[in-house]
Amino acid sequence: MSYRIFNFNPGPAMLPLSVLKQVQEELLDYKGSGMSIMEVSHRSKWFEDVLQDAIARTKRLLGLDDRFRVLFMQGGASMQFCLVPMNLALGDKPLDYVDTGTWSTKAIKEAKIQGKKVRVVASSEDREYTYIPESIPIDEDAAFLHITSNNTIRGTQFREFPRPKKVPLISDMSSDIFSRRFDPAPFGLIYAGAQKNAGPAGVTLVIVREDMLERVPAGLPTMLKYTTYAEKNSLYNTPPSFAIYVTGLVLRWLEEEMGGLEHMEKTNREKAELIYGYLDSQDFYRGTAEPASRSWMNVTFRLPSEELEKAFLEQAQQNGLGGLKGHRSVGGCRASIYNAMPIEGVQALIEFMKDFASKNG
Ligand code: PMP
Repeated sequence: MSYRIFNFNPGPAMLPLSVLKQVQEELLDYKGSGMSIMEVSHRSKWFEDVLQDAIARTKRLLGLDDRFRVLFMQGGASMQFCLVPMNLALGDKPLDYVDTGTWSTKAIKEAKIQGKKVRVVASSEDREYTYIPESIPIDEDAAFLHITSNNTIRGTQFREFPRPKKVPLISDMSSDIFSRRFDPAPFGLIYAGAQKNAGPAGVTLVIVREDMLERVPAGLPTMLKYTTYAEKNSLYNTPPSFAIYVTGLVLRWLEEEMGGLEHMEKTNREKAELIYGYLDSQDFYRGTAEPASRSWMNVTFRLPSEELEKAFLEQAQQNGLGGLKGHRSVGGCRASIYNAMPIEGVQALIEFMKDFASKNG
């Protein structure tokens, strides 16, 4: 399919071709219903099966035991910035946050707006968020410890998660959920906007451990309570049914075509090693994240000048490599290489980078 480019967009991002084809095939007549999945009732058997399948696949892929509930919500990860402190604060206990850049900073801001006792226990602001703080102080008496597992803008990622014994770990995993295996045990809640590694925009995945639900204050408005979604299996009101359906197909692709998270992690490691290996082998491009903190999902780099960056982006686009512009807040270039980006896309990018460097270096 020559008209499909290698799409390095940070999110919404590339989706697997086989998923898009399945959507296309099923669009007009979903499993003999004579309707598209967008048109069936969210209370029909068709949609119920879609929802249960997406939940079951999430649990299997992440190895979640029965203590964890999988919820599908709206409002993006940004809504979770406000819902996490609103639902999970515990009396006067401090809310601990690690600040690793824009998205953590926004999460912190939303907790502060609510007048919560927020502590920034570690931060990488001193070196422009180019690294993940090495040791995270853990106060087992805090209400929770919040981290951003992958920093989409700065291109940094936790390699190892903090391992508190008691205090629940909470993570924004918007840009690396389903990219690798991890032990879910220390997590009280994980959230992720689907539009990077899990599906289309419009649905937010929330994984919550049941004991966290006991914290939800009774007086909160219905739609802002995790318990509403948990008690009604995300069907208290009309859920974003099409986005959940596509997310389910992405998870099916991960399990059945990509060999699950173990294999996906191996491929993601290979892709990251290829591109960082190239960055380290030359001095025209400069990676911006500190090597020990480099993200396997978002590879951020600069060229010798902004003019060259502009030319690079234009020519890359002409060569079928799209979405390489860095976030507007930091500039430069960024290659987002989520699960759906095949290794061939990374190889094509490196070939183009070599060629551009030889002509402009
Ligand atoms: N957290 C992270 C790590 C992100 O990358 C983003 C989006 N780029 C957000 C939160 C915000 O997500 P949303 O647009 O779904 O609110």
